[in-house]
Amino acid sequence: MSDYETIAKLRKIYDDLVKEMGDAIESTLSISFSSRFKTRAGDCRQIGINEFRIRLSKKLYNEFGYERIEKTFRHELAHLYCFKRRDYKHSQLFKRVCNQFGGSMNKRMAGWRYEESASKEYIPRTRMAKKWKYTCNKCKNSFERANKMSKKIFNNANRVCCHCKNPTTNFTEERI
Ligand SMILES: [Zn+2]
Ligand SMILES: [Zn+2]
Repeated sequence: MSDYETIAKLRKIYDDLVKEMGDAIESTLSISFSSRFKTRAGDCRQIGINEFRIRLSKKLYNEFGYERIEKTFRHELAHLYCFKRRDYKHSQLFKRVCNQFGGSMNKRMAGWRYEESASKEYIPRTRMAKKWKYTCNKCKNSFERANKMSKKIFNNANRVCCHCKNPTTNFTEERI
């Protein structure tokens, strides 16, 4: 299924909901995928008077497929419904509507009452590439970091090697 077809399928879900609920959910809605979401599944924003935008994570879609993204879409539709009532949180109303719409929530957010709609699937955090290597000059033990250690930390005589207690001032720093 192409992105275009997927979005058309999601729009159909929304259109059917509008037919059923009318004003409670009717709005100008734009639906799109975002490649920028690293850990979030989707979001819903109000962009004008009764105008909303739902974005869905391309990464989540690629990793878990259509069914998972549809549940996220339904979660975002519950936000749309609540935004129209000036309810901007994951409130009790939100949870009830999200459940009714067949949306998913992460486990922590759902709470025991809505456990059945809790999703165990998540987008793994992207690990930052390690770029710096620090080697103890005494015992040759080393560790890697994504960011360069600040001079203040590196030159602090109280920071020592966890193996031989050699101060980090006596470490070698190198770019890898
Ligand atoms: Zn939400
Ligand atoms: Zn050491």
